[in-house]
Amino acid sequence: MGRVIAVCISEAKGTQKKNVHSAEFIEDWGIRNDAHAGKWHRQVSLLSHDKIEAFRARGAQVEDGAFGENLVVEGIDFASFPVGTIFRCNDVVLELTQVGKKCHHGCEIFRKMGDCIMPREGVFTKVLHGGVISEGDELTVDHKKNKILTFSYDDGVTQDVHLIELFHKYHMKATFNLNSGLLGQENELVRDGVRISHNKNKPEDVRFIYDGHEVAAHTLTHPLLTQIEDVQEIIRQVEEDRIKLSDLCGYEVIGMAYPGGGVNYNDHVSDVIRKHTGIRYARTTCSSHSFDLQNHLYQFQPSVYHHTEMDRMFEMGREFLELKTDERKIFYVWGHAYEFDIRNEWKRFEEFLEMMSGREDIAYCTNREAFLL
Ligand SMILES: [Zn+2]
Repeated sequence: MGRVIAVCISEAKGTQKKNVHSAEFIEDWGIRNDAHAGKWHRQVSLLSHDKIEAFRARGAQVEDGAFGENLVVEGIDFASFPVGTIFRCNDVVLELTQVGKKCHHGCEIFRKMGDCIMPREGVFTKVLHGGVISEGDELTVDHKKNKILTFSYDDGVTQDVHLIELFHKYHMKATFNLNSGLLGQENELVRDGVRISHNKNKPEDVRFIYDGHEVAAHTLTHPLLTQIEDVQEIIRQVEEDRIKLSDLCGYEVIGMAYPGGGVNYNDHVSDVIRKHTGIRYARTTCSSHSFDLQNHLYQFQPSVYHHTEMDRMFEMGREFLELKTDERKIFYVWGHAYEFDIRNEWKRFEEFLEMMSGREDIAYCTNREAFLL
Protein backbone atom coordinates (compact mmCIF):
# COMPACT_ATOMS: atom_id res chain seq x y z
CA MET A 1 0.00 0.00 0.00
CA GLY A 2 1.21 3.51 -0.80
CA ARG A 3 0.47 7.07 0.23
CA VAL A 4 0.01 9.94 -2.21
CA ILE A 5 2.66 12.62 -1.59
CA ALA A 6 1.85 14.99 -4.46
CA VAL A 7 -0.71 15.45 -7.24
CA CYS A 8 0.85 17.40 -10.13
CA ILE A 9 -0.31 18.86 -13.44
CA SER A 10 1.11 21.08 -16.18
CA GLU A 11 -0.28 23.13 -19.02
CA ALA A 12 2.18 21.85 -21.65
CA LYS A 13 3.86 18.51 -22.37
CA GLY A 14 7.61 18.26 -21.86
CA THR A 15 7.55 20.75 -18.98
CA GLN A 16 7.79 20.29 -15.23
CA LYS A 17 4.49 19.80 -13.46
CA LYS A 18 3.33 21.67 -10.35
CA ASN A 19 1.82 20.18 -7.22
CA VAL A 20 -1.86 21.16 -7.06
CA HIS A 21 -2.46 18.92 -3.98
CA SER A 22 -5.77 17.51 -5.23
CA ALA A 23 -7.23 16.83 -8.69
CA GLU A 24 -10.09 15.25 -10.57
CA PHE A 25 -9.35 12.14 -12.66
CA ILE A 26 -11.59 11.65 -15.69
CA GLU A 27 -12.32 8.19 -17.10
CA ASP A 28 -10.38 7.35 -20.29
CA TRP A 29 -8.97 10.86 -20.34
CA GLY A 30 -6.60 11.75 -17.49
CA ILE A 31 -6.42 14.59 -14.98
CA ARG A 32 -8.55 17.67 -15.56
CA ASN A 33 -6.47 20.53 -17.02
CA ASP A 34 -3.35 18.38 -17.43
CA ALA A 35 -1.37 18.47 -20.70
CA HIS A 36 -1.05 14.67 -20.86
CA ALA A 37 -4.78 13.98 -20.67
CA GLY A 38 -6.30 12.61 -23.86
CA LYS A 39 -7.49 9.51 -25.71
CA TRP A 40 -4.21 7.62 -25.50
CA HIS A 41 -2.41 5.12 -23.30
CA ARG A 42 -0.24 7.49 -21.23
CA GLN A 43 -2.92 9.51 -19.46
CA VAL A 44 -1.47 9.59 -15.95
CA SER A 45 2.16 9.06 -14.90
CA LEU A 46 3.30 7.80 -11.51
CA LEU A 47 6.65 7.95 -9.80
CA SER A 48 7.81 6.48 -6.50
CA HIS A 49 8.59 9.03 -3.81
CA ASP A 50 11.35 6.75 -2.57
CA LYS A 51 13.11 6.90 -5.98
CA ILE A 52 12.86 10.69 -6.05
CA GLU A 53 14.33 10.83 -2.53
CA ALA A 54 17.23 8.59 -3.60
CA PHE A 55 17.84 10.93 -6.56
CA ARG A 56 17.71 13.96 -4.25
CA ALA A 57 20.26 12.25 -2.00
CA ARG A 58 22.66 12.38 -4.96
CA GLY A 59 22.47 16.17 -4.90
CA ALA A 60 19.58 16.84 -7.26
CA GLN A 61 17.28 19.68 -6.33
CA VAL A 62 13.95 18.58 -7.73
CA GLU A 63 10.46 19.56 -6.72
CA ASP A 64 7.57 17.08 -6.91
CA GLY A 65 6.35 17.11 -10.51
CA ALA A 66 9.76 18.05 -11.91
CA PHE A 67 10.02 14.82 -13.92
CA GLY A 68 6.64 15.48 -15.50
CA GLU A 69 5.02 12.94 -13.18
CA ASN A 70 1.38 13.34 -12.11
CA LEU A 71 1.36 11.32 -8.91
CA VAL A 72 4.18 10.96 -6.42
CA VAL A 73 3.50 7.99 -4.17
CA GLU A 74 5.41 6.75 -1.16
CA GLY A 75 5.86 3.03 -0.50
CA ILE A 76 5.27 1.55 -3.96
CA ASP A 77 8.03 0.62 -6.42
CA PHE A 78 6.03 1.20 -9.60
CA ALA A 79 8.63 0.00 -12.11
CA SER A 80 8.56 -3.47 -10.54
CA PHE A 81 4.99 -4.13 -11.70
CA PRO A 82 4.04 -5.53 -15.12
CA VAL A 83 1.81 -3.85 -17.66
CA GLY A 84 -1.80 -4.58 -16.76
CA THR A 85 -1.40 -4.00 -13.00
CA ILE A 86 -4.35 -2.14 -11.46
CA PHE A 87 -3.92 0.70 -8.96
CA ARG A 88 -6.82 2.00 -6.88
CA CYS A 89 -7.16 5.22 -4.90
CA ASN A 90 -10.58 6.31 -3.60
CA ASP A 91 -12.86 5.83 -6.64
CA VAL A 92 -10.04 6.15 -9.13
CA VAL A 93 -8.87 3.02 -10.96
CA LEU A 94 -5.68 3.18 -13.02
CA GLU A 95 -4.29 0.46 -15.30
CA LEU A 96 -0.54 0.29 -15.92
CA THR A 97 0.03 0.56 -19.69
CA GLN A 98 3.75 1.29 -19.99
CA VAL A 99 6.83 1.07 -17.79
CA GLY A 100 9.41 3.79 -18.39
CA LYS A 101 9.81 5.98 -21.44
CA LYS A 102 12.40 7.63 -23.58
CA CYS A 103 13.76 10.77 -21.90
CA HIS A 104 13.48 13.96 -23.92
CA HIS A 105 17.09 14.53 -24.86
CA GLY A 106 18.36 17.23 -22.62
CA CYS A 107 15.35 17.41 -20.30
CA GLU A 108 16.27 19.99 -17.68
CA ILE A 109 17.08 17.40 -15.05
CA PHE A 110 19.23 15.36 -17.41
CA ARG A 111 21.19 18.46 -18.40
CA LYS A 112 21.93 19.32 -14.79
CA MET A 113 22.49 15.85 -13.35
CA GLY A 114 23.58 13.78 -16.37
CA ASP A 115 20.79 11.40 -15.41
CA CYS A 116 17.01 11.28 -15.10
CA ILE A 117 14.98 8.62 -13.29
CA MET A 118 11.73 9.00 -15.25
CA PRO A 119 12.83 6.75 -18.18
CA ARG A 120 13.36 3.76 -15.87
CA GLU A 121 11.25 4.44 -12.77
CA GLY A 122 8.21 6.27 -14.14
CA VAL A 123 5.12 4.32 -15.19
CA PHE A 124 2.12 5.31 -17.27
CA THR A 125 -1.50 4.45 -16.77
CA LYS A 126 -4.96 4.79 -18.25
CA VAL A 127 -7.88 5.93 -16.14
CA LEU A 128 -10.41 3.07 -16.00
CA HIS A 129 -12.62 4.88 -13.50
CA GLY A 130 -12.65 8.53 -12.47
CA GLY A 131 -12.70 10.30 -9.13
CA VAL A 132 -10.66 12.64 -6.96
CA ILE A 133 -7.19 12.04 -5.51
CA SER A 134 -5.59 14.28 -2.88
CA GLU A 135 -2.35 14.32 -0.96
CA GLY A 136 -2.35 11.84 1.89
CA ASP A 137 -4.78 9.41 0.19
CA GLU A 138 -3.99 5.71 0.16
CA LEU A 139 -3.17 3.97 -3.10
CA THR A 140 -3.34 0.18 -3.38
CA VAL A 141 -2.13 -2.35 -5.91
CA ASP A 142 -5.31 -4.21 -6.72
CA HIS A 143 -4.46 -7.21 -8.80
CA LYS A 144 -1.88 -8.22 -11.28
CA LYS A 145 -2.89 -9.58 -14.61
CA ASN A 146 -1.01 -12.85 -14.95
CA LYS A 147 -2.17 -13.65 -18.45
CA ILE A 148 -0.32 -11.84 -21.20
CA LEU A 149 -1.33 -11.77 -24.87
CA THR A 150 1.28 -10.55 -27.34
CA PHE A 151 1.85 -10.67 -31.10
CA SER A 152 4.90 -10.57 -33.39
CA TYR A 153 4.85 -9.76 -37.10
CA ASP A 154 7.81 -9.89 -39.48
CA ASP A 155 9.22 -8.07 -42.50
CA GLY A 156 7.62 -4.60 -42.16
CA VAL A 157 5.19 -5.10 -45.03
CA THR A 158 2.55 -2.58 -46.05
CA GLN A 159 -0.17 -5.00 -44.86
CA ASP A 160 1.00 -4.13 -41.32
CA VAL A 161 -0.99 -0.89 -41.62
CA HIS A 162 -4.31 -2.71 -41.77
CA LEU A 163 -3.24 -5.19 -39.11
CA ILE A 164 -2.42 -2.28 -36.79
CA GLU A 165 -5.89 -0.84 -37.40
CA LEU A 166 -7.30 -4.13 -36.13
CA PHE A 167 -5.02 -4.14 -33.08
CA HIS A 168 -6.17 -0.59 -32.30
CA LYS A 169 -9.80 -1.54 -32.69
CA TYR A 170 -9.42 -4.28 -30.06
CA HIS A 171 -7.00 -2.34 -27.81
CA MET A 172 -4.11 -4.70 -28.35
CA LYS A 173 -0.42 -4.16 -28.91
CA ALA A 174 2.11 -5.99 -31.05
CA THR A 175 5.77 -6.10 -31.99
CA PHE A 176 6.93 -5.64 -35.58
CA ASN A 177 10.28 -6.98 -36.75
CA LEU A 178 11.74 -4.91 -39.58
CA ASN A 179 14.67 -5.17 -41.98
CA SER A 180 15.99 -1.61 -42.08
CA GLY A 181 18.02 -2.39 -45.23
CA LEU A 182 14.91 -3.42 -47.16
CA LEU A 183 12.46 -0.69 -46.12
CA GLY A 184 10.72 0.96 -49.05
CA GLN A 185 11.41 -1.98 -51.42
CA GLU A 186 8.63 -3.30 -53.62
CA ASN A 187 8.28 -6.99 -54.21
CA GLU A 188 5.83 -9.82 -54.85
CA LEU A 189 5.64 -13.34 -53.47
CA VAL A 190 3.86 -16.40 -54.75
CA ARG A 191 2.48 -18.46 -51.87
CA ASP A 192 0.19 -21.47 -52.35
CA GLY A 193 -0.12 -20.40 -56.00
CA VAL A 194 -1.36 -16.95 -55.06
CA ARG A 195 0.52 -13.79 -56.01
CA ILE A 196 0.64 -11.38 -53.08
CA SER A 197 2.35 -8.10 -52.47
CA HIS A 198 5.43 -8.07 -50.25
CA ASN A 199 6.07 -4.32 -50.35
CA LYS A 200 7.88 -2.86 -47.38
CA ASN A 201 6.90 0.30 -45.54
CA LYS A 202 9.09 3.33 -46.19
CA PRO A 203 11.72 4.24 -43.58
CA GLU A 204 10.28 7.72 -43.07
CA ASP A 205 6.86 6.20 -42.24
CA VAL A 206 8.12 3.71 -39.63
CA ARG A 207 7.79 6.00 -36.62
CA PHE A 208 4.23 6.97 -37.51
CA ILE A 209 2.90 3.57 -38.61
CA TYR A 210 4.22 1.61 -35.63
CA ASP A 211 3.54 4.28 -32.99
CA GLY A 212 2.15 2.71 -29.82
CA HIS A 213 3.55 -0.71 -30.74
CA GLU A 214 7.10 -2.06 -30.55
CA VAL A 215 9.56 -2.06 -33.43
CA ALA A 216 12.18 -4.82 -33.24
CA ALA A 217 15.06 -5.93 -35.46
CA HIS A 218 14.94 -8.62 -38.17
CA THR A 219 18.50 -8.01 -39.57
CA LEU A 220 19.51 -5.54 -42.26
CA THR A 221 18.75 -7.69 -45.31
CA HIS A 222 17.11 -10.91 -44.08
CA PRO A 223 19.94 -13.48 -44.49
CA LEU A 224 19.89 -16.91 -42.81
CA LEU A 225 22.20 -16.15 -39.90
CA THR A 226 23.10 -19.84 -39.46
CA GLN A 227 24.78 -19.81 -42.87
CA ILE A 228 27.01 -16.82 -42.19
CA GLU A 229 30.51 -17.95 -41.17
CA ASP A 230 31.93 -14.54 -40.35
CA VAL A 231 30.92 -13.63 -36.81
CA GLN A 232 31.43 -9.91 -37.55
CA GLU A 233 28.87 -10.16 -40.33
CA ILE A 234 26.29 -11.71 -37.99
CA ILE A 235 26.90 -8.86 -35.55
CA ARG A 236 26.66 -6.26 -38.33
CA GLN A 237 23.40 -7.68 -39.68
CA VAL A 238 21.78 -7.53 -36.24
CA GLU A 239 23.37 -4.57 -34.50
CA GLU A 240 23.30 -2.17 -37.48
CA ASP A 241 19.66 -3.04 -38.04
CA ARG A 242 18.94 -2.43 -34.36
CA ILE A 243 20.68 0.96 -34.39
CA LYS A 244 19.07 2.11 -37.65
CA LEU A 245 15.63 1.15 -36.41
CA SER A 246 16.29 2.89 -33.08
CA ASP A 247 17.04 6.07 -35.03
CA LEU A 248 13.87 5.70 -37.11
CA CYS A 249 11.66 5.07 -34.06
CA GLY A 250 13.20 7.49 -31.60
CA TYR A 251 13.67 4.86 -28.87
CA GLU A 252 16.09 2.04 -28.26
CA VAL A 253 15.17 -1.14 -30.09
CA ILE A 254 16.03 -4.22 -28.00
CA GLY A 255 14.20 -7.16 -29.56
CA MET A 256 14.50 -9.21 -32.72
CA ALA A 257 13.07 -12.11 -34.67
CA TYR A 258 15.35 -14.51 -36.59
CA PRO A 259 14.85 -14.07 -40.34
CA GLY A 260 14.10 -16.89 -42.76
CA GLY A 261 12.50 -20.30 -42.38
CA GLY A 262 14.05 -23.66 -41.52
CA VAL A 263 17.13 -23.64 -39.30
CA ASN A 264 17.34 -19.90 -38.76
CA TYR A 265 19.12 -19.95 -35.39
CA ASN A 266 21.44 -22.14 -33.34
CA ASP A 267 23.41 -21.84 -30.09
CA HIS A 268 26.33 -20.17 -31.85
CA VAL A 269 24.19 -17.48 -33.49
CA SER A 270 22.16 -16.74 -30.36
CA ASP A 271 25.34 -16.57 -28.26
CA VAL A 272 26.92 -14.07 -30.66
CA ILE A 273 23.78 -11.92 -30.50
CA ARG A 274 23.60 -12.10 -26.72
CA LYS A 275 27.27 -11.20 -26.22
CA HIS A 276 27.88 -8.67 -28.98
CA THR A 277 24.70 -6.74 -29.65
CA GLY A 278 22.17 -4.67 -27.70
CA ILE A 279 19.46 -7.26 -28.43
CA ARG A 280 17.80 -8.61 -25.27
CA TYR A 281 15.42 -11.19 -26.69
CA ALA A 282 15.17 -13.04 -30.00
CA ARG A 283 12.16 -14.95 -31.30
CA THR A 284 12.40 -18.14 -33.31
CA THR A 285 9.78 -19.59 -35.67
CA CYS A 286 9.31 -22.85 -33.70
CA SER A 287 5.91 -23.08 -32.02
CA SER A 288 5.97 -24.14 -28.36
CA HIS A 289 2.20 -24.74 -28.20
CA SER A 290 2.54 -23.60 -24.59
CA PHE A 291 1.86 -20.55 -22.41
CA ASP A 292 4.77 -21.23 -20.07
CA LEU A 293 7.51 -18.70 -19.46
CA GLN A 294 10.80 -19.67 -21.10
CA ASN A 295 14.23 -19.14 -19.67
CA HIS A 296 16.16 -18.82 -22.95
CA LEU A 297 14.99 -15.43 -24.20
CA TYR A 298 17.48 -15.54 -27.09
CA GLN A 299 15.77 -18.63 -28.45
CA PHE A 300 12.22 -17.69 -27.57
CA GLN A 301 9.59 -20.01 -29.00
CA PRO A 302 6.26 -18.40 -29.86
CA SER A 303 3.09 -20.21 -28.76
CA VAL A 304 1.59 -20.55 -32.23
CA TYR A 305 1.91 -19.48 -35.89
CA HIS A 306 -1.29 -17.83 -37.11
CA HIS A 307 -0.83 -18.89 -40.73
CA THR A 308 -0.37 -22.68 -40.83
CA GLU A 309 -1.86 -23.15 -37.36
CA MET A 310 -4.97 -20.98 -37.52
CA ASP A 311 -7.26 -23.65 -36.00
CA ARG A 312 -4.73 -24.41 -33.29
CA MET A 313 -4.54 -20.66 -32.56
CA PHE A 314 -8.30 -20.53 -31.94
CA GLU A 315 -8.10 -23.66 -29.80
CA MET A 316 -5.29 -22.20 -27.71
CA GLY A 317 -7.12 -18.90 -27.54
CA ARG A 318 -10.17 -20.54 -25.98
CA GLU A 319 -7.90 -22.45 -23.60
CA PHE A 320 -6.17 -19.20 -22.62
CA LEU A 321 -9.47 -17.45 -21.92
CA GLU A 322 -10.49 -20.27 -19.59
CA LEU A 323 -7.12 -20.49 -17.85
CA LYS A 324 -7.03 -19.60 -14.15
CA THR A 325 -3.50 -19.03 -12.94
CA ASP A 326 -1.45 -17.50 -10.14
CA GLU A 327 1.69 -17.61 -12.29
CA ARG A 328 2.53 -15.45 -15.27
CA LYS A 329 1.55 -17.04 -18.57
CA ILE A 330 2.21 -15.73 -22.07
CA PHE A 331 0.20 -16.45 -25.20
CA TYR A 332 2.43 -15.39 -28.07
CA VAL A 333 1.14 -15.39 -31.67
CA TRP A 334 3.44 -14.73 -34.63
CA GLY A 335 3.30 -14.48 -38.41
CA HIS A 336 3.45 -12.07 -41.35
CA ALA A 337 0.67 -9.63 -42.16
CA TYR A 338 0.88 -10.51 -45.89
CA GLU A 339 -0.20 -14.07 -45.07
CA PHE A 340 -3.74 -12.84 -44.41
CA ASP A 341 -3.94 -11.99 -48.13
CA ILE A 342 -3.17 -15.54 -49.30
CA ARG A 343 -6.48 -17.14 -48.29
CA ASN A 344 -8.15 -13.86 -47.37
CA GLU A 345 -8.10 -14.62 -43.67
CA TRP A 346 -8.36 -11.06 -42.41
CA LYS A 347 -11.94 -11.57 -41.24
CA ARG A 348 -11.08 -14.78 -39.46
CA PHE A 349 -8.14 -13.17 -37.67
CA GLU A 350 -10.35 -10.29 -36.64
CA GLU A 351 -12.76 -12.81 -35.11
CA PHE A 352 -9.84 -14.13 -33.10
CA LEU A 353 -8.91 -10.65 -31.86
CA GLU A 354 -12.51 -9.95 -30.95
CA MET A 355 -12.70 -13.22 -29.03
CA MET A 356 -9.51 -12.44 -27.08
CA SER A 357 -10.24 -8.75 -26.44
CA GLY A 358 -11.52 -6.81 -23.43
CA ARG A 359 -10.75 -9.41 -20.76
CA GLU A 360 -10.20 -8.17 -17.21
CA ASP A 361 -7.59 -10.83 -16.49
CA ILE A 362 -5.50 -10.42 -19.67
CA ALA A 363 -2.83 -7.77 -20.26
CA TYR A 364 -2.35 -6.82 -23.91
CA CYS A 365 1.36 -6.12 -24.40
CA THR A 366 4.19 -5.69 -26.82
CA ASN A 367 6.87 -8.39 -26.63
CA ARG A 368 9.28 -6.36 -24.51
CA GLU A 369 6.52 -5.54 -22.06
CA ALA A 370 5.54 -9.21 -21.96
CA PHE A 371 9.15 -10.12 -21.14
CA LEU A 372 9.37 -7.28 -18.55
CA LEU A 373 12.33 -5.77 -20.42
ZN1 LIG B 1 11.16 -12.33 -42.26
